[in-house]
Amino acid sequence: MSTDTIQHHLSDTIQRLSESATLAMARMARELKEAGKDVISLSLGEPDFNTPDFIKEAAKKAIDDNFSHYPPVNGYLEVREAISRKFKRDNKLNYSADQIVVSTGAKQSITNVVMAIVSAGEEVILPAPYWVSYSEMVKMANGVVVPIQTTIDNDFKITPEQLEEAITPNTRMMIFSSPCNPSGSVYSEDELRGLVSVLRKYPSLYVISDEIYEHINFSGGHASLASFDEVYDQVITVNGVSKAFAMTGWRIGYIGAPTWIAKACAKMQGQVTSAPCGIAQKAAQAAVEADPSVIDAMRAAFLVRRDLVLSHLNKIPGLKTNVPDGAFYIFADVSDYIGKSDGTTTIQSPADMCMYLLENQTLALVSGESFGDSRCIRISYAAADDVLVEACKRIAAGLNNLK
Ligand code: PMP
Ligand code: GLU
Repeated sequence: MSTDTIQHHLSDTIQRLSESATLAMARMARELKEAGKDVISLSLGEPDFNTPDFIKEAAKKAIDDNFSHYPPVNGYLEVREAISRKFKRDNKLNYSADQIVVSTGAKQSITNVVMAIVSAGEEVILPAPYWVSYSEMVKMANGVVVPIQTTIDNDFKITPEQLEEAITPNTRMMIFSSPCNPSGSVYSEDELRGLVSVLRKYPSLYVISDEIYEHINFSGGHASLASFDEVYDQVITVNGVSKAFAMTGWRIGYIGAPTWIAKACAKMQGQVTSAPCGIAQKAAQAAVEADPSVIDAMRAAFLVRRDLVLSHLNKIPGLKTNVPDGAFYIFADVSDYIGKSDGTTTIQSPADMCMYLLENQTLALVSGESFGDSRCIRISYAAADDVLVEACKRIAAGLNNLK
């Protein structure tokens, strides 16, 4: 039978989901590159550094030591104990090993929690802009996304009043990142305290605090939401090694959570992946056991790049930026260019802007819509300085042609 005549029965769930916008743009850029085009891709949030040697050595040793069998579903005990010490050392958080679940990337960690807690029809608050996958994870659980809009003028941060207004009797969860992907915004301890004063009034509202950019923070210190005792039992702290240790391909993330939530996540994971890769877990153990100062050079390089990109972008008329205190993204407001045209293409949205820059300037960025924002585009500056300068030239040239 030819494939044309075979009926495709895709589930309602998969039809509801969007393709990951970050991965889709990275794919398009890769395809153009393979076709011989001089593409610059600042679409994917991934450090351009290599994994440090001491971590690679730990993985090689794990292979020689035969970490080749099914690991325990929630991760090796010694890995969870190392993560427990890391939480204490860096975040003043007390999570025992049985409150920790190691997963195949923080992406799976967050999916596990959403699937474990959110029932059909329950509302999940997402301060917008939010990372593209949060909304899709909520859809997988048949939950309802409730965005809270922010703007560049308030540094893309929500206020306690906005949070209180968004909560209904049907709210089950909020998913929150600081430093934030895509805005780079970092909530101060005082700003977190403001949110805690609201959250504590709703003990059955759970918060995923996604702290994967913890170490890429230029504001001088990271504050963990769960370190506020009043909400410790409501918070699931997510972290991982992808960003801090340039280990995106090793696929290790983890949570610290109340034991009942950790158990539920392990139950979920036991049916999906059995456990995360044992060799990658041992590499991650070496990473979290290392003195966090190993990340200093990488963080310093990101700060120089942030300032380099901002200095170029700020010369472009009508393009608005804030000064992000963390992560490695600039979420630039291009709303002044909506409605403008180069004579052939009229820009109706940030998505049009990204396609225009890809087609006319062979530059791949990600549009704001999939982050829940209809004014901005995301520029990842996790790339070499000369690449960033050339990318900024392309943005300037592309926008200059729009009248
Ligand atoms: N959270 C945020 C905010 C992210 O940007 C990412 C992107 N990698 C993740 C979670 C997932 O990280 P990973 O699965 O690579 O550990
Ligand atoms: N989190 C990164 C990003 O936002 C990696 C891609 C993804 O998994 O979304 O670009």
